[in-house]
Amino acid sequence: MFTPLSRRLGIALGMVALISATGFSRTSTAQVPSLDQWTIHDEDRAQPAVVDPGPARDPLPPPSDALVLFDGTDLSPWEKPNGEAPGWKVENEYMEVTRGTGAIQTKEGFGDVQLHVEWASPNSGQGQNSGNSGIFLMGIYEVQVLNSNGNKTYPDGQAASVYGQYPPLVNASRPAGQWQTYDIIFHRPRFDGSGKVTHPARVTVLHNGVLVQDNVALTGPTGHHARPPYKAHADTLPLQLQEHNEPVRYRNIWVRPLPEAN
Ligand code: MG
Repeated sequence: MFTPLSRRLGIALGMVALISATGFSRTSTAQVPSLDQWTIHDEDRAQPAVVDPGPARDPLPPPSDALVLFDGTDLSPWEKPNGEAPGWKVENEYMEVTRGTGAIQTKEGFGDVQLHVEWASPNSGQGQNSGNSGIFLMGIYEVQVLNSNGNKTYPDGQAASVYGQYPPLVNASRPAGQWQTYDIIFHRPRFDGSGKVTHPARVTVLHNGVLVQDNVALTGPTGHHARPPYKAHADTLPLQLQEHNEPVRYRNIWVRPLPEAN
């Protein structure tokens, strides 16, 4: 049966429109409209709703195939970025940020991972100065650690935000001083041979068991008042924990490196 060219073109265009409408785009995100609607660190955007995640609980043992990065006893898998021994203290089955000693990072590098981290932030000040630390995936992409229970700051910088990019879907923070959990699924960015990003980094975060980041696509490295573009980097890089002057504690850290996804 003969179909006029104009009709065939119409069908083709209709299909393009349908594909576009269904959002089959590599950079579409399941969460938060366009980042362009908000200025970075915008104090005026809505604060995420508060959700009580229930009381803190004792840590569960890691799964059998997990790589334990901290079991409460020693920092042997960790070092300073310059390769020196970490300056943080270990006591009572936790490690604690020691002011002035800088960040620590794993000796081993990681790409795609499932990561479990437990942390406790003191109420040590206001806004960004209350128990601030951070989980830097690949040393580049920060999931914020902060006392965000009754401590207001810009939503894209509160606990469980992808710093400067995505506020958490809800605020599932426990009170300062209590143990909290992050379960993070991270897929590293992919770059082509010329260094151009073909797939942005993606992250899913559960904060105290509550979904707070739903497979969001990162715009690039996280930064303070900055959203720098991607720069090609290695497939595996150390996981870093931030020192931000405040004595934040960590315990029960384990990782499951994930097989490379398509
Ligand atoms: Mg931080």
